[in-house]
Amino acid sequence: MTQTLFSETGSNRWRQRPKMVLLLLFVMAFALWQVGSWKREAVLDELEESSRQELRRYVLHLQGQLEKYEFLPGVLASNKSLVHLLLNPDDSESIEALNLYLETLNKLTGTLDTYLMDAEGLTIAASNWATEKPFVGRNFSYRPYFQEAMRGHLGRYFALGTASNKRGYYFAYPVRSENRILGAVVIKINMTPIEESWKDAQNELLVTDPDGVVFITTNKSWRFKTLSPLAPEVQTRIRKSRRYGDEMLESLPISKLETRGQNAHVIRINEGRGYYYLVQEESMSHAGWRVQILTRLDNVNSKILNAVVFAGLFFLAVVLLLIFWIQRRNRLHEKARFEQRAKELLEIRVGEQTRDITEANVRLTQEIEQHRRTESELQRTQNELIQSAKLALIGQMSTGISHELNQPLAAIRSYADNALALYRRDRRNEVEWNLVQISELTERMAQISSQLKLFARKTAGKKSRVSVTAVIEESLQLLSSRILQTRIEWKPPEEPLYVLANMVQLEQVLVNLIGNALQAVDTSPDPAIVIEVSVSSDAKTVSMQIRDNGEGIPDNLLVRIFDPFFTTKEEGQGLGLGLSISMRIVDAMDGKLTAQNNASGGALFTLALPAASSEDSMVFADQVRTEAP
Ligand code: ADP
Repeated sequence: MTQTLFSETGSNRWRQRPKMVLLLLFVMAFALWQVGSWKREAVLDELEESSRQELRRYVLHLQGQLEKYEFLPGVLASNKSLVHLLLNPDDSESIEALNLYLETLNKLTGTLDTYLMDAEGLTIAASNWATEKPFVGRNFSYRPYFQEAMRGHLGRYFALGTASNKRGYYFAYPVRSENRILGAVVIKINMTPIEESWKDAQNELLVTDPDGVVFITTNKSWRFKTLSPLAPEVQTRIRKSRRYGDEMLESLPISKLETRGQNAHVIRINEGRGYYYLVQEESMSHAGWRVQILTRLDNVNSKILNAVVFAGLFFLAVVLLLIFWIQRRNRLHEKARFEQRAKELLEIRVGEQTRDITEANVRLTQEIEQHRRTESELQRTQNELIQSAKLALIGQMSTGISHELNQPLAAIRSYADNALALYRRDRRNEVEWNLVQISELTERMAQISSQLKLFARKTAGKKSRVSVTAVIEESLQLLSSRILQTRIEWKPPEEPLYVLANMVQLEQVLVNLIGNALQAVDTSPDPAIVIEVSVSSDAKTVSMQIRDNGEGIPDNLLVRIFDPFFTTKEEGQGLGLGLSISMRIVDAMDGKLTAQNNASGGALFTLALPAASSEDSMVFADQVRTEAP
């Protein structure tokens, strides 16, 4: 399986990232630009408002200054001495007196100059009569204020004094006598103190005449400059009027950048570093002037920059937070997907394992089935084998039985034939002997069949207290005909020992064991059988040992000798039932029969039986005989 937990990575998203970054930058730039322009608008609005108020204040101040002097020439014109002098221009005494009067008045009112002109424009008396460049005797008829006064109006004019070279504002008023204009009285106001009182840190102020020439300004370098280039004819006219003396009246290098509202706009004066200004103006209709306030915009830029930087930082923080949030969300998504994938893989693995287990289970079941079949096959084979073994056993047994029975039967027949022949010859004694033989043989046959019956019987006979010495000696007695050359080592115990057993059956067992031993020692050079009796330390068991010096029992046969019909003897010598019957008898009497080989050779059979207590009833050998089958 090639599936992995990370088969689907966020590569698409990463590929899209440069686009996202570009978009973000664009949005950020746009937002910052918006913030900048919003801040600029706000700051400019604020400045506009405050500057407008400032401007208003300056205009009022200027107007106040002018109005203060406006009435003065009118008052002077009504003075009779002026009329008198104009009517008598050669009266030198009056001229002198008027010069003094005008000088005094000039000082008192704070005007720059006060003087009297005749109808030709010739100055006939002046406050500055005693100075180096007195006006007296000079003709100013070219001045528009004079011409205006001569037309009967209050003449107003701003100009650079031709004699004094000082900027001044002129008021001229006609001097009348009987409705005839004799001349004009003029006062000149000094504009310098007004200009000086206007010093302002943030703003520049300027006052322009109707031609746009700056004549009052807080910035000295702008003085007598124009706001826009003057047309040649205008320039000629101004030169002719000698209004601004020999000043060149160059135009200021102004770029108008933006118009805000009616009387406000943003300009740049390309002078030196080139400052930006917010310009607002107000006109003074009487004087025909325009007063302008120029507010420096340096601070505005720094304020905008501050706002933009602040907004930028804010935006950056928001973006960072956003990125952080997105990454966190992505991480969570990734984690969830990872877990989901892990779960799926786990399920797949569990599924595979379950499948494997199921397959293994099926295989196991099949194997078990196979084993069962094999087992039943084996069982069947075994049963068949057992069956064959049984058949073989039955065959072996029948052969044994028929052999055992055929021998006496043949003998009986020959004894019977002998008896018949002897009877015919009337040899009665011999007939009797033969009959006795026949009788004994039938007895033997009865014994054989009784042995078979005993084999079939399951329970032991009635048990009683049996003397070990008695039962051993009885058995030896029964076998006496077979003992012959064999040496029997038998020493009865000093204290009589008793066991709880069936006397006849015990005797059968002992006859069988001693009989087997007799057969075993048959070929020994010095045949001997040792019979020993002992009692266990707890006196509960009495053991009888029958030891011979025959060939012993091969080790591999030790376990088989107790099997029914197992025999190593030749045909007719044994049925192979003796030990198996003996074993059953001893078992039924709660005893134990074991076989082993002597260290010196020969077999050793041990017969252990429960010891009888004195309460158990005694059985005697005679009784046994009568009870025997
Ligand atoms: P049988 O005597 O008819 O063969 P048993 O059951 O009495 O039947 O004995 C079984 C076998 O045990 C004998 O064939 C013999 O091989 C062996 N056996 C029994 N007793 C002895 C003995 N004392 N020495 C050697 N072999 C013995």
